[in-house]
Amino acid sequence: MDADLADLQRRVTECRACPRLVAWREEVATVKRAAFRDEEYWGRPVPAFGDPDARVLLVGLAPAAHGANRTGRMFTGDRSGDFLYASLHRTGFANQPNGDRPDDGLELTDCWITAIVRCAPPANKPTVTERDTCLTWTAEELDLLPNVRVVVCLGQFGWDGALRLLAARGVPIPRPRPKFGHGAEYDLGDVRLLGTFHPSQQNTFTGRLTPPMLDGVLSRARELAGG
Ligand code: SF4
Repeated sequence: MDADLADLQRRVTECRACPRLVAWREEVATVKRAAFRDEEYWGRPVPAFGDPDARVLLVGLAPAAHGANRTGRMFTGDRSGDFLYASLHRTGFANQPNGDRPDDGLELTDCWITAIVRCAPPANKPTVTERDTCLTWTAEELDLLPNVRVVVCLGQFGWDGALRLLAARGVPIPRPRPKFGHGAEYDLGDVRLLGTFHPSQQNTFTGRLTPPMLDGVLSRARELAGG
C-alpha cells in the first residue's frame, strides 16, 4: 500500500474526535456479546479496506458494534459482510466469498470499501455532526485513490454522505438533488454515483435486497468503471 495511504489508515485508527462514539465503541469492546466473550475486540475506528488502485469505491454507513468493531476490518464478522463479500466474489471484485476475520486471506481487486463514519454508533445512527466530522477522513482518503470512477453507496446514509463529500470536492451536484434508490444511477461528470439498498439483515432477511439485486448493482459498477 502507498505510504501516504498507510499513514492515513494508521492515523484514522487513533482518532478520538467524536466523544459519544469513542465511549460507545469502547464500551461495546469491553462488555462484548456473549458469543464473542473470549475474543479481544478491536474497539477503535475501522480503517477502509481494499485495492488502492480501485476504480470502484463502496461507501457504507458505519462499522457494526459486534462486526467490524470486533474484528477491525470493514464488513468483517457479521451477516451484512457475509452478504456483501459473497456478492463481491460473484462479481469478480473479491478472491473469496467470505470475510470472517482479518487474517482470512480476503483480497479485493478494483474495489475499495470505506464508511461514512468509522466508529460503531449506538443503534447504527451517527449524528449529523459525527458524520461531518468523519467525512474529513474520507475526503483525505479519496485524494489518495486517484482511479476512483464509480461510487457505490450502500444505503441512504452512504448516499447522502457521498453527495456531501463530492460536492465539497467541487463535483457539480444537479438540482434537484440525486435521489437515492436501489439501482439509482447518476452521471456526475468524472464520477458515476450508484445506489443499492444496504446489505443489513433488515433488508436481506426480508428479501428487500436479494443476492441478484446486489450482484446487478456491482456488475453495473464494473461496467461503468470500464469493464
Ligand atoms: S467516527 Fe470518525 S471522526 Fe469520529 S472518532 Fe471515529 S474515526 Fe474519528
